[in-house]
Amino acid sequence: MLFSNINGIKKKKIVLLPHDHPDGDALGSSLALLFYFRKLKHDVDLISSTEYSKSFQWLPGIKNVIVFSKQNKYLIKKKIENSDYLFLIDFNNISRIKNLKNFLIDSNAKKVLIDHHPYPSCFDFMLSDTKVPATSILVFRFISNMNHLNKIDKEIATCLYIGLMTDTGFFRFPSITSETHFIAGKLIEKGINVSHIYNILQEKYSENRLKLLSKTLNKLKVLEKYRTTYTSISASDMKIFSCKKEDTEGFIYYGLGIENIVFSVLFFEEKTKKSIKISFRSRGNFNVSIFAKKHFQGGGHKNAAGGILENSLSESIKYFLSIIPNYYSDLITSI
Ligand code: 5GP
Ligand code: MN
Repeated sequence: MLFSNINGIKKKKIVLLPHDHPDGDALGSSLALLFYFRKLKHDVDLISSTEYSKSFQWLPGIKNVIVFSKQNKYLIKKKIENSDYLFLIDFNNISRIKNLKNFLIDSNAKKVLIDHHPYPSCFDFMLSDTKVPATSILVFRFISNMNHLNKIDKEIATCLYIGLMTDTGFFRFPSITSETHFIAGKLIEKGINVSHIYNILQEKYSENRLKLLSKTLNKLKVLEKYRTTYTSISASDMKIFSCKKEDTEGFIYYGLGIENIVFSVLFFEEKTKKSIKISFRSRGNFNVSIFAKKHFQGGGHKNAAGGILENSLSESIKYFLSIIPNYYSDLITSI
């Protein structure tokens, strides 16, 4: 039904919604769908509930993204309420689009979830597969199921490849399958410039970002007994080095690279100092999604998850240290 409606001659009003603080996969998947639906002559908008990282300013089509603000609140509300289809992209629960959540609840539009996170809420159409490493794989499958692979041009391919690249940690995470590389190959056939995309995503950072990394690594603690490492970034660190949250991308993986470590944690003090955002990464079968859900009101994937605590930095770390012994046997047996 979804496929025939989208493929029909009747123009549809479609709104694409990536999650808050969209990452490469959320933005890449959304932009690819924006180009694709425009080719089908639908009326499409891409609305982001929050700002996106400056590092994505070069993405094809990024100027089309409408970012929620107080000024455009009513325009956005109208667009969401009057749409035929709302696409929820790369998230599993409407709490991940905080500013738009209520508009979505009030809208009679058919809601289509395209996502790879576990335990998705139920919507009218579910393109959910928790086994794929990136939502952009599901977008590729969607276009393929529509029999429209010929409509994937260089721009769409670039957007999907960015999703693949960023959510697979540049093709190195265990979630990768032969399908991942098959699709990457198909995208490369469309003429994308792989090394250019890599260089822009990975190798353009400021001196201050490197200094913040240095400070963060200096604070790193290793709990050998629990094969765990953790570190923190305070609001004042961020201020001193004039860094933004997106500059901290990838910091958490340094600790995980230490031999024998299977669990890495990063505490990030929000600017308001009222809450701490916590990131979790693991190797092997230690499930950080369950850990984050149980203790930090969070969730995510088996090896990459996040959560939040409304507490000070030191109290949050203290709390974490108090629960970690309960996971001793899971951590020492994780392979
Ligand atoms: P990050 O550590 O990069 O912020 O998040 C890693 C993954 O964990 C994300 O892909 C996302 O799926 C999940 N995640 C992060 N923060 C939260 C949160 O507060 N709630 C939920 N449910 N998932 C989160
Ligand atoms: Mn994703």
